[in-house]
Amino acid sequence: MSAPKPGPAATAGILRVATRNAAYNADSLRVDTARALILSLAACLEGTELLPLSSALGRVLAADLVSPIDVPAHDNAAMDGFAVRGADLREDAPSRLRVLGASLAGRPYAGSVGAGQCVRIMTGATLPAGADTVVVQEVVSVQGDRAGIPAGQQPGSNLRRAGEDVKAGAVALTAGTPLRPAELGVIASLGLDRVEVRRRPRVAYFSTGDELLKPGESPAPGRVYDSNRATLAAMLARAGCDGIDLGVVPDDPMALEQALARAALEADAVISSGGVSVGDADYIRPLMQRAGEVLFWKLALRPGRPFAFGRLNPPPADGSERPGALFFGLPGNPVATMVTFYLLVRPALLAMQGRADLDPPRTRAPVRHALAKKAGRTEVLRGVLEASDGKWQVRATGAQGSGLLSSMAKANCLVVLEHERCDVAAGESVDVIMLDGIA
Ligand code: AMP
Ligand code: MG
Repeated sequence: MSAPKPGPAATAGILRVATRNAAYNADSLRVDTARALILSLAACLEGTELLPLSSALGRVLAADLVSPIDVPAHDNAAMDGFAVRGADLREDAPSRLRVLGASLAGRPYAGSVGAGQCVRIMTGATLPAGADTVVVQEVVSVQGDRAGIPAGQQPGSNLRRAGEDVKAGAVALTAGTPLRPAELGVIASLGLDRVEVRRRPRVAYFSTGDELLKPGESPAPGRVYDSNRATLAAMLARAGCDGIDLGVVPDDPMALEQALARAALEADAVISSGGVSVGDADYIRPLMQRAGEVLFWKLALRPGRPFAFGRLNPPPADGSERPGALFFGLPGNPVATMVTFYLLVRPALLAMQGRADLDPPRTRAPVRHALAKKAGRTEVLRGVLEASDGKWQVRATGAQGSGLLSSMAKANCLVVLEHERCDVAAGESVDVIMLDGIA
């Protein structure tokens, strides 16, 4: 394959940056190099929104969140029992203390605990003044207003200290943190009902191919249903983006040019699927070379070899300083679309939201069966990570053709066999990227 003729914009722009990299090879780029090049252009977007907590799930915290209060606000009981003074406890003999009253959650005891005295206390209730210890109720014998405390109770025990969860003035959550249920709870625990989050990237996406039918249309000879827009819409939503569906674009240069022009106006990033491989109907790459800059168009990756990445020129009417939209030309094969999205597009979309954690959880596990692997490219299999006889192991989902989308539906992980690796024997450890999570 001959290299494309970059236009003047390209030679002055990102292509020059890329070609300075010793590992740059536009015709068969290593996945790790491709990822680094993509991330070097995926800057955090300007713009934030102030949202109620109920709308902030999955969004990304825009600024460090400094706690206005101590959490918990007061020293309080970790167990039901009696609030006592440690000085009244004895190593060698029981103590008898007078019960003054009770401190309940939300209804603190107003007085203070003096020598020889105690207060009944429930979990979460504020520790009364003078007390510094909670003795659990199970060991205490009560007769009238007297509490018998056995010998050997530990002073200072069964307490939660003010500020032990979060201290007033401390950073409770750092900028770039994705808001999961736990983070939303932490923000609520600070007494805040709103949170400033990064704006969502606007991502235009379309499928290309004259053979594509929309789901809901009648089947026809030689046609296939467009599944890539369904997976792209869902993957974009999971990655915290606002998807702009540009539909199915026929294999026609005019129509593709119009789709790119519209995307350049509306979007921070553009994703196409199909039409980036070598073939008569492949228009995307030459079009991109006119509409912007192309950084690379082939990866040393299976599935996902045809993959174009570049940047659209900003629309001329737009006086703003914003850079042109990033362009990801994904291969049309449905599994390749998903695999390249997870490996290369998703990290960029997260970086555009200011997130620091760009990759899904990764682990290593022994593989249950041998895997054929060619050195000189990264290979990605759909896998199932499961415990068998108490040991975690990973296996492939079965046939791995890049058109077999059901292999993706059966998977809970991707198995990544790195660039240099050759055939893998049963029992060898492999890299596993998790696809599912609950938090
Ligand atoms: P392409 O990358 O355009 O050469 O397409 C590669 C293969 O993926 C062909 O078999 C296409 O029919 C199929 N394909 C392309 N786009 C889609 C799509 N949106 N949904 C399902 N299959 C597709
Ligand atoms: Mg096609």
